Amino acid sequence: MHALSIYKLFACQKIKAIVEFFVSVKIVIKENKIFLSVDVDPVWLARWATGSVNSLWPDCESCFSDLYGGTSPPDTLSEPIDKILRLFDELNFKSTFFFTGYIAELFPNLVKKIAAEGHEIGCHNYEHLDYEYESREKFRNDLEKSKKLLETLLGKEVIGYRSPNSSVPKSIVEDLLEFGIKYDSSVTPTRRIMGKFGDFTNAPQRPYHSKKENIGKEGDSDLVELPWAVFPLLKLPAGSGITHRIFGNVYNNLALNSSLKKGHTAYYFHPYEITQVEEMKKMHLPLKAKIFLQNCGDRYFQMLSIFLRKHQSRLVNGEGLYELVKATTS
Ligand SMILES: [Zn+2]
Repeated sequence: MHALSIYKLFACQKIKAIVEFFVSVKIVIKENKIFLSVDVDPVWLARWATGSVNSLWPDCESCFSDLYGGTSPPDTLSEPIDKILRLFDELNFKSTFFFTGYIAELFPNLVKKIAAEGHEIGCHNYEHLDYEYESREKFRNDLEKSKKLLETLLGKEVIGYRSPNSSVPKSIVEDLLEFGIKYDSSVTPTRRIMGKFGDFTNAPQRPYHSKKENIGKEGDSDLVELPWAVFPLLKLPAGSGITHRIFGNVYNNLALNSSLKKGHTAYYFHPYEITQVEEMKKMHLPLKAKIFLQNCGDRYFQMLSIFLRKHQSRLVNGEGLYELVKATTS
């Protein structure tokens, strides 16, 4: 080979190696994770349906009577959960499923089945209440009851917690740690909207160790907080199936991309969001409930599938991200 050709070949390879190096650095920088989880709530646990002072029904029993004509609910979870598990199989991903103790008591085999497929089970407290308005004693008793119940079913420790409705008392860090919780994912660093979201507007928009006195502030406690994604500038809630369905793909992508630039972020959804919620559609619902149920069913499953496939390499479950954060902060 001519000497000049050899030189050109060598130079090309050098340039190629340099380009590959910078691309790989860029990928590492961009590879912040998305903590993907499922809150295993039937639609009747939504805040507007039961469990808050302004809900449609005062309690679950009166809701079951109206919706199903009985004193207990049918299993509306197994079918969408199966669909979710198959999607996660396709993505080769093991997620975190947060259960309330109440749902775990109703459907214990569902908890065991999900765990048997290698997914993490997290604690969603016992009832689906706004715990920031409940007494500390009620919070502690329900947390202990629910965690023990799940651990008995699983035969292993539960380390992750998410408060229902993201309604979390600020001073619960020591309580969570006392009961063996290692990470929490309840904080939404957004504006408080319609009485929802726990007033954590200025909380960090990336994982952090919580301050002992305030779960929304960074500190040196052992509790790791994994906050949800936020829509930029306006600080609106994002990173959930609810905001994704109601505000659409553009809103969701803007929020996730912006949050990923700040660090690891979180996205979660519910099994009822990928079903048609036919029983609800037959009812005369208030406007807020109709808005809340927008795009549930096949439409959302399609939106979700496209979104998750796009971010497949970033997906991580709660215990995975907890370990990652611990390894980089200790
Ligand atoms: Zn929930």
